[in-house]
Amino acid sequence: FIMLKPVNSIWDSCLSIIKDSVSAQSYTTWFEPIVPVGFEENLLTIQVPSQFFYEWLEEHYVSLIGKALRQVTDAPCRIKYNITKREEAVNLHKINLSTPTQKQGSFAINPFAIPGLKKNQVDSMLNTRYVFTNYIAGSCNDLARSAGEAIANKPGNNSFNPMMVYSGVGMGKTHLIQAIGNEIKAKFPEKLVLYTAAERFSTQFVESVRTNTQNDFINFYQSLDVLIVDDIQFLTGKEKTQEIFFHVFNHLHQQGKQLILTSDSPAKELKGMDDRLLSRFKWGLTADLKLPDLETRTAILRNRIQNDGMELSDEIVDFIANNIKSSVRDLEGALITLLAATSFGRTIDLAAARESLSHIIKTDSQDLSIENIKKMVAAHQGITLEAMVGTSRKREIVQARQIAMFLAKKFTQYSLKTIGSHFGNRDHSTVIHSCSTVDNLMVTERKFKTIVDDLQKKLKAIA
Ligand code: ADP
Ligand code: MG
Repeated sequence: FIMLKPVNSIWDSCLSIIKDSVSAQSYTTWFEPIVPVGFEENLLTIQVPSQFFYEWLEEHYVSLIGKALRQVTDAPCRIKYNITKREEAVNLHKINLSTPTQKQGSFAINPFAIPGLKKNQVDSMLNTRYVFTNYIAGSCNDLARSAGEAIANKPGNNSFNPMMVYSGVGMGKTHLIQAIGNEIKAKFPEKLVLYTAAERFSTQFVESVRTNTQNDFINFYQSLDVLIVDDIQFLTGKEKTQEIFFHVFNHLHQQGKQLILTSDSPAKELKGMDDRLLSRFKWGLTADLKLPDLETRTAILRNRIQNDGMELSDEIVDFIANNIKSSVRDLEGALITLLAATSFGRTIDLAAARESLSHIIKTDSQDLSIENIKKMVAAHQGITLEAMVGTSRKREIVQARQIAMFLAKKFTQYSLKTIGSHFGNRDHSTVIHSCSTVDNLMVTERKFKTIVDDLQKKLKAIA
Protein backbone atom coordinates (compact mmCIF):
# COMPACT_ATOMS: atom_id res chain seq x y z
CA PHE A 1 0.00 0.00 0.00
CA ILE A 2 1.69 3.17 -1.21
CA MET A 3 0.87 6.70 -0.21
CA LEU A 4 1.13 8.98 -3.20
CA LYS A 5 3.06 12.14 -2.57
CA PRO A 6 2.29 15.22 -4.62
CA VAL A 7 4.98 15.97 -7.16
CA ASN A 8 5.95 19.30 -5.67
CA SER A 9 6.80 17.92 -2.29
CA ILE A 10 8.79 15.09 -3.88
CA TRP A 11 10.72 17.51 -6.02
CA ASP A 12 11.31 19.90 -3.11
CA SER A 13 12.77 17.06 -1.07
CA CYS A 14 14.98 16.11 -4.01
CA LEU A 15 16.16 19.67 -4.34
CA SER A 16 17.20 19.89 -0.73
CA ILE A 17 19.34 16.78 -1.22
CA ILE A 18 20.76 18.06 -4.50
CA LYS A 19 21.54 21.46 -3.06
CA ASP A 20 24.08 19.88 -0.74
CA SER A 21 25.91 18.17 -3.58
CA VAL A 22 26.40 20.93 -6.13
CA SER A 23 27.86 24.42 -6.11
CA ALA A 24 25.52 27.35 -5.58
CA GLN A 25 26.08 28.49 -9.13
CA SER A 26 25.27 25.09 -10.61
CA TYR A 27 22.20 24.90 -8.48
CA THR A 28 20.92 28.26 -9.69
CA THR A 29 21.74 27.51 -13.30
CA TRP A 30 20.58 23.92 -13.58
CA PHE A 31 18.05 23.21 -10.87
CA GLU A 32 16.11 26.35 -10.13
CA PRO A 33 14.71 26.56 -13.69
CA ILE A 34 13.32 23.02 -13.53
CA VAL A 35 9.57 22.79 -13.13
CA PRO A 36 8.23 19.48 -11.78
CA VAL A 37 5.15 18.49 -13.76
CA GLY A 38 4.04 15.10 -12.59
CA PHE A 39 4.92 11.94 -10.74
CA GLU A 40 3.18 8.72 -11.61
CA GLU A 41 4.22 5.10 -11.31
CA ASN A 42 7.78 6.05 -10.43
CA LEU A 43 8.06 8.31 -13.44
CA LEU A 44 8.96 11.88 -12.66
CA THR A 45 8.19 14.40 -15.38
CA ILE A 46 10.10 17.64 -15.30
CA GLN A 47 9.97 20.62 -17.57
CA VAL A 48 13.24 22.16 -18.74
CA PRO A 49 13.82 25.30 -20.81
CA SER A 50 15.81 23.95 -23.76
CA GLN A 51 17.24 20.99 -25.59
CA PHE A 52 20.68 22.01 -24.45
CA PHE A 53 19.50 22.22 -20.87
CA TYR A 54 18.12 18.70 -21.15
CA GLU A 55 21.37 17.37 -22.57
CA TRP A 56 23.42 19.03 -19.89
CA LEU A 57 21.27 17.50 -17.17
CA GLU A 58 21.53 14.09 -18.80
CA GLU A 59 25.27 14.37 -19.09
CA HIS A 60 26.06 15.79 -15.68
CA TYR A 61 23.27 15.43 -13.21
CA VAL A 62 21.09 12.50 -14.13
CA SER A 63 22.63 10.14 -11.61
CA LEU A 64 22.47 12.78 -8.89
CA ILE A 65 18.78 13.36 -9.57
CA GLY A 66 18.24 9.62 -9.71
CA LYS A 67 19.88 9.12 -6.33
CA ALA A 68 17.94 11.93 -4.72
CA LEU A 69 14.68 10.58 -6.14
CA ARG A 70 15.44 7.16 -4.86
CA GLN A 71 16.18 8.50 -1.44
CA VAL A 72 12.95 10.46 -1.36
CA THR A 73 10.60 7.88 -2.87
CA ASP A 74 12.40 4.78 -1.70
CA ALA A 75 12.12 3.25 -5.17
CA PRO A 76 14.08 3.36 -8.41
CA CYS A 77 12.49 5.99 -10.60
CA ARG A 78 12.71 7.21 -14.15
CA ILE A 79 12.73 10.74 -15.44
CA LYS A 80 10.87 12.20 -18.36
CA TYR A 81 11.76 15.60 -19.73
CA ASN A 82 9.38 18.08 -21.27
CA ILE A 83 11.38 20.54 -23.28
CA THR A 84 9.78 23.92 -23.48
CA LYS A 85 10.39 25.72 -26.70
CA ARG A 86 12.00 29.05 -26.18
CA GLU A 87 9.22 31.36 -27.41
CA GLU A 88 6.76 29.47 -25.35
CA ALA A 89 8.92 29.74 -22.29
CA VAL A 90 8.94 33.49 -22.57
CA ASN A 91 5.19 33.64 -22.44
CA LEU A 92 4.72 30.78 -20.08
CA HIS A 93 3.64 32.88 -17.15
CA LYS A 94 1.02 34.59 -19.27
CA ILE A 95 -0.62 31.71 -21.04
CA ASN A 96 0.52 28.88 -18.82
CA LEU A 97 0.49 26.54 -21.76
CA SER A 98 3.17 25.02 -23.91
CA THR A 99 3.67 22.37 -26.53
CA PRO A 100 6.44 20.31 -25.07
CA THR A 101 8.55 17.88 -27.01
CA GLN A 102 9.22 14.80 -25.00
CA LYS A 103 12.36 12.81 -24.34
CA GLN A 104 12.80 9.76 -22.27
CA GLY A 105 15.74 9.94 -19.96
CA SER A 106 17.01 6.98 -18.07
CA PHE A 107 19.79 6.21 -15.69
CA ALA A 108 19.30 2.56 -14.96
CA ILE A 109 20.03 0.92 -18.28
CA ASN A 110 23.11 -1.22 -18.49
CA PRO A 111 23.45 -2.38 -22.09
CA PHE A 112 25.66 -5.31 -21.14
CA ALA A 113 23.52 -6.70 -18.41
CA ILE A 114 22.04 -9.24 -20.80
CA PRO A 115 24.56 -11.76 -22.13
CA GLY A 116 24.09 -12.97 -25.69
CA LEU A 117 22.78 -9.68 -26.99
CA LYS A 118 21.09 -9.46 -30.34
CA LYS A 119 22.42 -6.77 -32.61
CA ASN A 120 19.34 -4.65 -32.54
CA GLN A 121 19.35 -4.68 -28.77
CA VAL A 122 22.72 -3.02 -28.46
CA ASP A 123 22.69 0.56 -27.40
CA SER A 124 25.61 2.20 -29.16
CA MET A 125 25.95 4.62 -26.28
CA LEU A 126 26.33 7.46 -28.77
CA ASN A 127 25.10 10.93 -27.97
CA THR A 128 23.09 12.18 -30.94
CA ARG A 129 24.26 15.72 -30.29
CA TYR A 130 27.76 14.80 -31.45
CA VAL A 131 27.56 14.88 -35.24
CA PHE A 132 29.73 16.18 -38.06
CA THR A 133 27.30 18.94 -38.99
CA ASN A 134 27.96 20.77 -35.75
CA TYR A 135 31.65 19.91 -35.58
CA ILE A 136 33.24 23.09 -36.82
CA ALA A 137 36.11 22.59 -39.25
CA GLY A 138 39.37 24.42 -38.81
CA SER A 139 43.05 23.88 -39.36
CA CYS A 140 43.17 22.71 -35.75
CA ASN A 141 41.21 19.56 -36.58
CA ASP A 142 41.72 19.22 -40.32
CA LEU A 143 43.45 15.85 -40.44
CA ALA A 144 41.44 14.21 -37.68
CA ARG A 145 38.14 15.38 -39.12
CA SER A 146 38.88 14.36 -42.70
CA ALA A 147 40.16 10.98 -41.59
CA GLY A 148 37.04 10.59 -39.47
CA GLU A 149 34.82 11.30 -42.46
CA ALA A 150 36.78 8.82 -44.57
CA ILE A 151 36.33 6.17 -41.90
CA ALA A 152 32.62 6.84 -41.73
CA ASN A 153 32.40 6.15 -45.46
CA LYS A 154 34.35 2.90 -45.29
CA PRO A 155 34.55 1.60 -41.75
CA GLY A 156 37.23 -1.06 -41.36
CA ASN A 157 38.33 -0.97 -44.98
CA ASN A 158 40.69 1.93 -44.81
CA SER A 159 44.24 2.71 -43.88
CA PHE A 160 43.16 4.51 -40.73
CA ASN A 161 42.73 1.45 -38.58
CA PRO A 162 43.05 2.02 -35.71
CA MET A 163 42.39 5.71 -35.74
CA MET A 164 43.99 7.35 -32.75
CA VAL A 165 43.03 10.89 -31.80
CA TYR A 166 44.86 12.72 -29.10
CA SER A 167 44.70 16.18 -27.50
CA GLY A 168 44.38 17.88 -24.17
CA VAL A 169 41.06 17.98 -22.42
CA GLY A 170 38.09 19.80 -23.92
CA MET A 171 39.46 20.00 -27.46
CA GLY A 172 36.81 17.91 -29.20
CA LYS A 173 37.99 14.28 -29.11
CA THR A 174 34.79 12.84 -27.74
CA HIS A 175 32.67 14.91 -30.09
CA LEU A 176 34.68 13.80 -33.13
CA ILE A 177 34.75 10.08 -32.43
CA GLN A 178 31.07 10.03 -31.57
CA ALA A 179 30.35 11.92 -34.79
CA ILE A 180 32.15 9.13 -36.64
CA GLY A 181 30.05 6.55 -34.79
CA ASN A 182 26.79 8.36 -35.48
CA GLU A 183 27.68 8.76 -39.14
CA ILE A 184 28.50 5.05 -39.51
CA LYS A 185 25.19 4.12 -37.91
CA ALA A 186 23.35 6.42 -40.28
CA LYS A 187 25.13 5.03 -43.34
CA PHE A 188 25.35 1.39 -42.31
CA PRO A 189 22.42 0.62 -40.01
CA GLU A 190 23.32 -3.08 -39.96
CA LYS A 191 26.71 -2.44 -38.41
CA LEU A 192 27.19 -2.90 -34.71
CA VAL A 193 28.77 0.25 -33.34
CA LEU A 194 29.77 0.79 -29.74
CA TYR A 195 31.15 3.83 -28.00
CA THR A 196 32.65 3.31 -24.59
CA ALA A 197 34.93 5.14 -22.22
CA ALA A 198 38.05 3.15 -21.36
CA GLU A 199 37.04 3.56 -17.76
CA ARG A 200 33.75 1.82 -18.39
CA PHE A 201 35.47 -0.93 -20.33
CA SER A 202 37.71 -1.49 -17.35
CA THR A 203 34.90 -1.46 -14.81
CA GLN A 204 32.87 -3.91 -16.86
CA PHE A 205 35.81 -6.20 -17.20
CA VAL A 206 36.44 -6.23 -13.45
CA GLU A 207 32.74 -6.87 -12.91
CA SER A 208 32.76 -9.76 -15.39
CA VAL A 209 35.64 -11.33 -13.51
CA ARG A 210 33.74 -11.01 -10.27
CA THR A 211 30.59 -12.58 -11.70
CA ASN A 212 32.49 -15.12 -13.76
CA THR A 213 31.08 -13.82 -17.06
CA GLN A 214 34.36 -12.98 -18.72
CA ASN A 215 33.45 -14.98 -21.80
CA ASP A 216 30.27 -13.02 -22.34
CA PHE A 217 32.26 -9.86 -21.96
CA ILE A 218 34.87 -10.84 -24.53
CA ASN A 219 32.34 -12.33 -26.94
CA PHE A 220 30.33 -9.19 -26.81
CA TYR A 221 33.25 -6.93 -27.63
CA GLN A 222 34.56 -9.26 -30.31
CA SER A 223 31.21 -9.24 -32.08
CA LEU A 224 31.32 -5.50 -32.77
CA ASP A 225 31.87 -3.94 -36.19
CA VAL A 226 33.08 -0.64 -34.85
CA LEU A 227 34.60 -0.18 -31.43
CA ILE A 228 35.19 3.34 -30.20
CA VAL A 229 37.14 3.67 -26.96
CA ASP A 230 37.50 7.09 -25.42
CA ASP A 231 40.34 8.16 -23.12
CA ILE A 232 42.50 5.05 -23.29
CA GLN A 233 45.05 6.74 -21.03
CA PHE A 234 42.74 5.44 -18.35
CA LEU A 235 44.06 1.94 -19.02
CA THR A 236 47.63 2.82 -18.06
CA GLY A 237 48.82 0.74 -15.15
CA LYS A 238 45.84 -1.62 -15.44
CA GLU A 239 47.60 -4.73 -16.72
CA LYS A 240 44.73 -7.17 -16.70
CA THR A 241 42.38 -4.81 -18.50
CA GLN A 242 45.09 -4.02 -21.05
CA GLU A 243 45.55 -7.72 -21.70
CA ILE A 244 41.87 -8.21 -22.41
CA PHE A 245 41.78 -5.12 -24.54
CA PHE A 246 44.77 -6.46 -26.46
CA HIS A 247 42.81 -9.62 -27.32
CA VAL A 248 39.74 -7.68 -28.34
CA PHE A 249 41.84 -5.31 -30.41
CA ASN A 250 43.63 -8.11 -32.27
CA HIS A 251 40.47 -10.02 -32.94
CA LEU A 252 38.63 -7.01 -34.35
CA HIS A 253 41.58 -5.77 -36.34
CA GLN A 254 42.13 -9.16 -37.95
CA GLN A 255 38.47 -9.29 -38.93
CA GLY A 256 38.77 -5.91 -40.63
CA LYS A 257 36.63 -4.22 -37.98
CA GLN A 258 37.15 -0.55 -37.24
CA LEU A 259 38.82 0.68 -34.05
CA ILE A 260 38.78 4.31 -33.01
CA LEU A 261 40.61 5.46 -29.92
CA THR A 262 41.41 8.66 -28.08
CA SER A 263 44.03 9.60 -25.59
CA ASP A 264 45.01 12.72 -23.69
CA SER A 265 48.60 12.41 -24.87
CA PRO A 266 50.54 10.89 -27.76
CA ALA A 267 51.18 7.14 -27.53
CA LYS A 268 54.84 7.46 -26.72
CA GLU A 269 54.00 9.42 -23.58
CA LEU A 270 51.59 6.83 -22.22
CA LYS A 271 53.64 5.46 -19.36
CA GLY A 272 52.36 2.22 -17.94
CA MET A 273 50.85 1.01 -21.21
CA ASP A 274 51.89 -2.36 -22.62
CA ASP A 275 54.39 -1.95 -25.49
CA ARG A 276 52.43 -4.43 -27.62
CA LEU A 277 49.41 -2.17 -27.38
CA LEU A 278 51.42 0.98 -27.98
CA SER A 279 52.89 -0.42 -31.17
CA ARG A 280 49.42 -1.42 -32.38
CA PHE A 281 48.09 2.07 -31.77
CA LYS A 282 50.60 3.22 -34.38
CA TRP A 283 49.43 0.81 -37.07
CA GLY A 284 46.81 3.15 -38.41
CA LEU A 285 46.54 6.89 -38.26
CA THR A 286 47.38 9.18 -35.38
CA ALA A 287 45.98 12.70 -35.47
CA ASP A 288 46.01 15.40 -32.87
CA LEU A 289 43.54 18.19 -32.22
CA LYS A 290 45.13 21.58 -31.75
CA LEU A 291 43.89 24.75 -30.14
CA PRO A 292 41.41 26.39 -32.49
CA ASP A 293 42.39 29.77 -33.95
CA LEU A 294 40.33 32.92 -33.48
CA GLU A 295 38.21 32.36 -36.57
CA THR A 296 37.37 28.79 -35.57
CA ARG A 297 36.63 29.83 -31.99
CA THR A 298 34.21 32.44 -33.27
CA ALA A 299 32.52 29.93 -35.57
CA ILE A 300 32.18 27.40 -32.73
CA LEU A 301 30.60 30.02 -30.48
CA ARG A 302 28.19 31.21 -33.17
CA ASN A 303 27.16 27.65 -33.95
CA ARG A 304 26.54 26.84 -30.33
CA ILE A 305 24.61 30.03 -29.68
CA GLN A 306 22.39 29.40 -32.67
CA ASN A 307 21.73 25.79 -31.78
CA ASP A 308 20.78 26.69 -28.29
CA GLY A 309 18.69 29.71 -29.27
CA MET A 310 20.68 32.06 -27.08
CA GLU A 311 20.79 35.75 -27.86
CA LEU A 312 24.24 37.27 -27.63
CA SER A 313 25.55 40.29 -29.51
CA ASP A 314 28.53 40.00 -31.87
CA GLU A 315 30.42 42.20 -29.47
CA ILE A 316 30.08 39.64 -26.70
CA VAL A 317 30.96 36.76 -29.03
CA ASP A 318 34.13 38.61 -30.08
CA PHE A 319 35.00 39.32 -26.50
CA ILE A 320 34.77 35.64 -25.58
CA ALA A 321 36.55 34.40 -28.72
CA ASN A 322 39.39 36.85 -28.18
CA ASN A 323 39.90 36.06 -24.55
CA ILE A 324 39.34 32.34 -24.16
CA LYS A 325 42.02 30.38 -25.92
CA SER A 326 42.46 27.39 -23.67
CA SER A 327 39.95 24.89 -25.08
CA VAL A 328 36.60 24.49 -26.77
CA ARG A 329 35.12 23.35 -23.50
CA ASP A 330 36.14 26.63 -21.88
CA LEU A 331 34.46 28.52 -24.71
CA GLU A 332 31.29 26.63 -23.95
CA GLY A 333 31.83 27.19 -20.26
CA ALA A 334 31.65 30.92 -20.92
CA LEU A 335 28.36 30.49 -22.79
CA ILE A 336 26.97 28.38 -20.00
CA THR A 337 27.86 31.08 -17.51
CA LEU A 338 25.86 33.52 -19.60
CA LEU A 339 23.03 31.07 -20.14
CA ALA A 340 21.19 31.82 -16.93
CA ALA A 341 21.56 35.55 -17.49
CA THR A 342 20.08 35.29 -20.98
CA SER A 343 17.44 32.64 -20.48
CA PHE A 344 13.79 33.34 -21.09
CA GLY A 345 14.42 36.07 -23.64
CA ARG A 346 16.55 38.42 -21.56
CA THR A 347 19.44 40.16 -23.29
CA ILE A 348 22.65 41.42 -21.76
CA ASP A 349 25.20 44.01 -22.84
CA LEU A 350 28.96 43.66 -23.04
CA ALA A 351 29.57 45.20 -19.64
CA ALA A 352 27.22 42.73 -17.97
CA ALA A 353 28.81 39.84 -19.89
CA ARG A 354 32.27 40.98 -18.85
CA GLU A 355 31.12 41.15 -15.26
CA SER A 356 29.58 37.64 -15.38
CA LEU A 357 32.73 36.25 -16.94
CA SER A 358 35.23 38.06 -14.73
CA HIS A 359 36.08 34.82 -12.91
CA ILE A 360 37.00 33.12 -16.20
CA ILE A 361 38.46 35.93 -18.25
CA LYS A 362 41.36 37.54 -16.49
CA THR A 363 42.39 41.00 -17.53
CA ASP A 364 45.08 41.19 -20.10
CA SER A 365 48.12 42.11 -17.98
CA GLN A 366 48.96 44.63 -20.71
CA ASP A 367 46.19 46.87 -19.48
CA LEU A 368 47.62 46.99 -16.00
CA SER A 369 51.25 47.53 -16.93
CA ILE A 370 53.29 50.21 -15.17
CA GLU A 371 53.48 52.07 -18.47
CA ASN A 372 49.73 52.20 -18.78
CA ILE A 373 49.33 53.40 -15.23
CA LYS A 374 51.85 56.18 -15.93
CA LYS A 375 49.96 57.21 -19.05
CA MET A 376 46.65 57.16 -17.28
CA VAL A 377 47.83 59.31 -14.37
CA ALA A 378 49.64 61.75 -16.67
CA ALA A 379 46.50 62.22 -18.76
CA HIS A 380 44.31 62.56 -15.68
CA GLN A 381 46.58 65.21 -14.12
CA GLY A 382 47.31 67.05 -17.34
CA ILE A 383 51.07 66.54 -17.36
CA THR A 384 53.35 65.00 -19.98
CA LEU A 385 54.89 61.54 -19.81
CA GLU A 386 58.34 63.15 -19.97
CA ALA A 387 57.60 65.20 -16.90
CA MET A 388 56.35 62.06 -15.15
CA VAL A 389 59.77 60.42 -15.45
CA GLY A 390 61.82 63.63 -15.42
CA THR A 391 63.47 65.54 -12.58
CA SER A 392 61.06 68.46 -12.17
CA ARG A 393 60.21 69.29 -8.54
CA LYS A 394 57.05 71.22 -9.40
CA ARG A 395 54.35 70.28 -6.93
CA GLU A 396 51.73 68.97 -9.39
CA ILE A 397 54.36 66.93 -11.22
CA VAL A 398 55.82 65.44 -8.06
CA GLN A 399 52.35 64.51 -6.89
CA ALA A 400 51.37 62.91 -10.19
CA ARG A 401 54.62 60.91 -10.12
CA GLN A 402 53.95 59.79 -6.55
CA ILE A 403 50.38 58.81 -7.34
CA ALA A 404 51.53 56.75 -10.33
CA MET A 405 54.11 54.90 -8.23
CA PHE A 406 51.54 54.30 -5.51
CA LEU A 407 49.08 52.85 -8.02
CA ALA A 408 51.75 50.76 -9.74
CA LYS A 409 52.61 49.24 -6.37
CA LYS A 410 48.98 48.62 -5.54
CA PHE A 411 47.76 47.29 -8.88
CA THR A 412 50.72 45.34 -10.26
CA GLN A 413 52.91 42.59 -8.90
CA TYR A 414 56.15 44.37 -9.74
CA SER A 415 58.89 44.92 -7.17
CA LEU A 416 59.70 48.36 -5.76
CA LYS A 417 62.94 48.26 -7.70
CA THR A 418 61.22 47.58 -11.02
CA ILE A 419 58.64 50.26 -10.39
CA GLY A 420 61.36 52.79 -9.57
CA SER A 421 63.18 51.92 -12.78
CA HIS A 422 60.10 52.97 -14.78
CA PHE A 423 60.20 56.43 -13.22
CA GLY A 424 63.51 57.78 -14.47
CA ASN A 425 65.55 55.15 -12.64
CA ARG A 426 64.53 56.12 -9.16
CA ASP A 427 65.45 53.66 -6.43
CA HIS A 428 63.18 51.54 -4.26
CA SER A 429 63.28 53.90 -1.27
CA THR A 430 61.82 56.67 -3.44
CA VAL A 431 58.92 54.37 -4.29
CA ILE A 432 58.34 53.56 -0.61
CA HIS A 433 58.44 57.26 0.20
CA SER A 434 55.93 58.02 -2.57
CA CYS A 435 53.54 55.34 -1.35
CA SER A 436 53.52 56.62 2.22
CA THR A 437 53.18 60.24 1.08
CA VAL A 438 50.11 59.32 -0.98
CA ASP A 439 48.68 57.34 1.93
CA ASN A 440 49.07 60.35 4.21
CA LEU A 441 47.73 62.91 1.78
CA MET A 442 44.66 60.80 1.17
CA VAL A 443 43.84 61.12 4.85
CA THR A 444 44.54 64.81 5.17
CA GLU A 445 43.50 66.26 1.81
CA ARG A 446 40.03 65.67 0.61
CA LYS A 447 40.64 66.86 -2.94
CA PHE A 448 43.72 64.70 -3.27
CA LYS A 449 41.78 61.66 -2.07
CA THR A 450 39.13 62.26 -4.72
CA ILE A 451 41.78 62.26 -7.44
CA VAL A 452 43.34 59.01 -6.26
CA ASP A 453 39.97 57.33 -5.76
CA ASP A 454 38.99 58.33 -9.23
CA LEU A 455 42.09 56.75 -10.71
CA GLN A 456 41.66 53.63 -8.61
CA LYS A 457 38.14 53.23 -9.90
CA LYS A 458 39.41 53.36 -13.47
CA LEU A 459 42.08 50.79 -12.76
CA LYS A 460 39.63 48.50 -11.03
CA ALA A 461 37.43 48.63 -14.11
CA ILE A 462 40.16 47.00 -16.18
CA ALA A 463 41.41 44.75 -13.39
P1 ADP B 1 37.52 16.19 -25.26
O1 ADP B 1 36.88 14.87 -25.46
O2 ADP B 1 38.73 16.41 -26.10
O3 ADP B 1 37.78 16.51 -23.82
P2 ADP B 1 34.94 17.18 -26.13
O4 ADP B 1 34.74 16.41 -27.37
O5 ADP B 1 34.19 16.73 -24.92
O6 ADP B 1 36.49 17.31 -25.77
O7 ADP B 1 34.63 18.70 -26.46
C1 ADP B 1 34.29 19.64 -25.48
C2 ADP B 1 33.13 20.46 -25.97
O8 ADP B 1 33.53 21.25 -27.07
C3 ADP B 1 31.98 19.60 -26.47
O9 ADP B 1 30.77 20.16 -26.05
C4 ADP B 1 32.10 19.65 -27.97
O10 ADP B 1 30.83 19.53 -28.60
C5 ADP B 1 32.72 21.00 -28.22
N1 ADP B 1 33.60 21.02 -29.39
C6 ADP B 1 34.87 20.63 -29.46
N2 ADP B 1 35.39 20.81 -30.68
C7 ADP B 1 34.40 21.33 -31.43
C8 ADP B 1 34.29 21.77 -32.79
N3 ADP B 1 35.33 21.67 -33.65
N4 ADP B 1 33.12 22.26 -33.20
C9 ADP B 1 32.07 22.36 -32.34
N5 ADP B 1 32.10 21.99 -31.07
C10 ADP B 1 33.24 21.48 -30.60
MG1 MG C 1 36.43 13.44 -23.99
